[in-house]
Order: sequence, then structure tokens, then C-alpha cells
Amino acid sequence: MSKSPLSIYVHIPFCVKKCSYCDFMSFASTPEEMERYRDALLREISEAEGSAQYEVQTVYIGGGTPSWVSPCLLAEILDALRIKYEFAPDAEISMEMNPGTLKDGALEIYRSAGINRISIGCQSLDDEELKVLGRIHTSEEFMTTFKAVRDAGFDNINVDLMSSIPGQTAEKFRRSLEGVLELSPEHISVYSLIIEPGTPFYTLYEKGELDLPSEDMVLETDRMVRRVVAEKGYKRYEISNYAREGYECRHNLVYWQHGDYRGFGPGAASLMGRHRFTNTRDYVEYMKAPGGEKEEDFTLTLREAMEEFMFLGLRTCAGVSEEKFRLKFGKEITEEFGDVIKDQVNKGLLVHENSHFYYTEAGMDVSNVLMSEFLE
Ligand code: SF4
Repeated sequence: MSKSPLSIYVHIPFCVKKCSYCDFMSFASTPEEMERYRDALLREISEAEGSAQYEVQTVYIGGGTPSWVSPCLLAEILDALRIKYEFAPDAEISMEMNPGTLKDGALEIYRSAGINRISIGCQSLDDEELKVLGRIHTSEEFMTTFKAVRDAGFDNINVDLMSSIPGQTAEKFRRSLEGVLELSPEHISVYSLIIEPGTPFYTLYEKGELDLPSEDMVLETDRMVRRVVAEKGYKRYEISNYAREGYECRHNLVYWQHGDYRGFGPGAASLMGRHRFTNTRDYVEYMKAPGGEKEEDFTLTLREAMEEFMFLGLRTCAGVSEEKFRLKFGKEITEEFGDVIKDQVNKGLLVHENSHFYYTEAGMDVSNVLMSEFLE
């Protein structure tokens, strides 16, 4: 019997120091605590149910800062996953890396552990902006890290950049973007800064002390990114993601295509069929019973699953496939969402072509609003 495809996310909740804008589940820690955490993760992995029915297509080790923990520890986690699950021979195995955290000999260990895609958190090539964000590294350290990763033989590298940084001008952002493009990574993600409650940036924002760019500038920057990366041969394939042909992040595509994924670690989310569950974000609780305490644990209704399929799929430039919808839910997209679709198509924001629905450039500019119209 053929196995079902599965993607796995592993959360590493440790960072050297908290960035000013970050609300991810991460904190500073000691090597001893990291080893205790490894043991907890191994326990959660070994106790996962139903592994025999899956073949792992992608693994994503995120955080936090996975490159800050011992590389052998990541190798042990991958070994444990391979014992538990069958891996596809061409599985995409990604890890996140932050400049200034790479340990001696780490890249060789990552490669022999099967990691074949590295995502580097650059955010900016302007040292002032990096300081504003509270990042621990300089632009030079990013350059050194990128070169080391490339020289070690990694041929699938993503670089994360951030727009809308306080005080950032379109020109400054363009310089960062062009500097990164000169390195010719296979993939670039450009996320706009979001001010999250509970972060130092949020406090400053409430006091009116954050010099944020106007909405017009955000839109202008967005258009400039699209133009500049297209000139260099990258294709936009999702709202914030650009790749050279064949280097789209397969792991993230699974999220956007509503595929099955299993998360390990505190705060990690899983979706298996319509069963959604998320581990507790409370580190102490997680360590007491890894994978036991859940933040949420429920089955999506058919309607909820269809809504998610639509609004996640429409994030991608390829859009949603009528055939996949039919196979998954046993009905036509237009049966369920006929009115919304008609309205968005009539406004020239949504296109129906080759059995797919996808947003036009104008639609992508306001996709958050449009996607929410699919929610009941
Ligand atoms: S490195 Fe990433 S996960 Fe860690 S604090 Fe900064 S933004 Fe958050």
C-alpha cells in the first residue's frame, strides 16, 4: 500500500537574545538545557502515533535559532525521525540559521545529517537597521555566513529580508535587496515587519515612538521587490516568496496546499487530515510531558477545511486547483464559494484559467482582504 506524504516541523526554541519585534516561542538558554530539550523532543518523536502510514517528503527545523544549538543535537533529532518515519529519497530537509551563530565544523555535520536547504535570517544589510531590530549580527557576519554555507556545498539557500523596518527608506531597502541578489541565493523571502503585542516594538508603537513607513511606501516597496527580483530571474510564487525555477520551498507549499504536517516541540502545530492539534507553548509544561499538553486539539468541520484550503491556496501565485478541491472535498469550488468567486472575478482581482483560480497582481496587493471573504 502506498504511503501518504507528510511534512515535519521541528521547533528549536533557543535564541542568543530576543529581537525587538519577535513574538516567536524562543529564549536564551544553556547547553545543558538544550540537551534536556533534545531528550524531550526525542521522547515526543518516539511516541508519535500512526507514523507507519506516512512517507516524509519535507522536514523543516525552525525556531528560534537552530544553528545556535550543537549541530550533533540536530543530527540526533534527524536520526530519531528517520527511525520513526520512512523518508522519501529526495526529501527536502531545511534548517534556519542566523549569522553569528555558526559553530566550527557545523556545516559538514549538517550535510552528513542530510540537511540540504539552509534558510539564513539576514533581514537587512544596513547595520543601523539591524541594530534597530535588535539582531545580534552585522551585515558583514551575514556575508561570511552565506559564503561559508555556499562553500560547504549547499546549493539551495534562502535569505530572509525584512521591509517596513522603522526608519527604512525605499532606497535603503533596495540596497539590501540588491546586495543579497548579488550573492545569487536560490530563494528569497521578503516579509514586512509586523508589530506584535507583547514585544518591545509594540510598547514603542503604543507610545508613538516607532517611525514606520506609510502604507503607500509599503506598496511601493512591494512593487519594487517584484520588479527587481523578476529582472534577476526569480519567480514570485507566494505573496512574500520568490525562487529560481525548481527551488520553491516544498515544505511551505505543503502548508499552503493544506497537506498533512506534523509539528514537534512547544507551540508546534499539526494537521493530519482534518485533525488539527498544537502543542502547548508553555516550555515548562512541554518539558513535563512532551507532546502531551495541547493548546488546541479539534477536528475541522468540512466547511472550515474548505475555507482553509481556499485562503491558504490563494496565497500562492498558482492559486487553487479545481481538481484538487474536487478530490479532497467531493464537490466543486463554485458550489461552495460561487458568490465570492463571481464577485472577485468580476472586479478583475481573481482569474479562472486552466482549472485554477488565482489572484491577479492587483488582487495580490489586497489579498488579505480578499482571502477573508472566503471565511463564513
Ligand atoms: S532570531 Fe528569530 S526567533 Fe530568535 S528572537 Fe530574533 S526573530 Fe525571534
